[in-house]
Amino acid sequence: MKFHNYDIVFQEIPDEVTLAINITHCPNGCEGCHSPHLQQDVGEELTTLVIDALLAKYGDDITCFCFMGGDRDVIELERLATYVRQHSDLKIGWYSGRNEMPPHPALFDFVKLGPYMADKGSLKSRTTNQRLYRRNGNEWEDITAMFWK
Ligand code: SF4
Repeated sequence: MKFHNYDIVFQEIPDEVTLAINITHCPNGCEGCHSPHLQQDVGEELTTLVIDALLAKYGDDITCFCFMGGDRDVIELERLATYVRQHSDLKIGWYSGRNEMPPHPALFDFVKLGPYMADKGSLKSRTTNQRLYRRNGNEWEDITAMFWK
């Protein structure tokens, strides 16, 4: 699993300071894709060593570690999420283009589901097909409306 870049962001996960890792080789092929470069099989391998370095550099400044993509290899994604869980107290998010929860959803605190559909818009649009869920124990709360305030 490779990544193109990362950034500290404030809006992708409401009320969290998030280190967002943009993972490449996206398989979803959304019509009107807003980030076509992320469909290419390019970038640096996202290893546990890279995660160690990111946690050492940014771990004290962030509250959430979010995988942006990674649908092509959900097993590897869950392995890396487990690693973050074991090596930090950060919340963990996943922005997926799929419509299904991951096999082990309890690994994550936030999951965004749904492909991008240009006519329905992003999470910031009230007509969006996408949903952001926040885990509360075994329950998932749809918090998409937080983007509309
Ligand atoms: S999930 Fe859809 S919009 Fe996002 S990078 Fe993949 S193809 Fe593009």
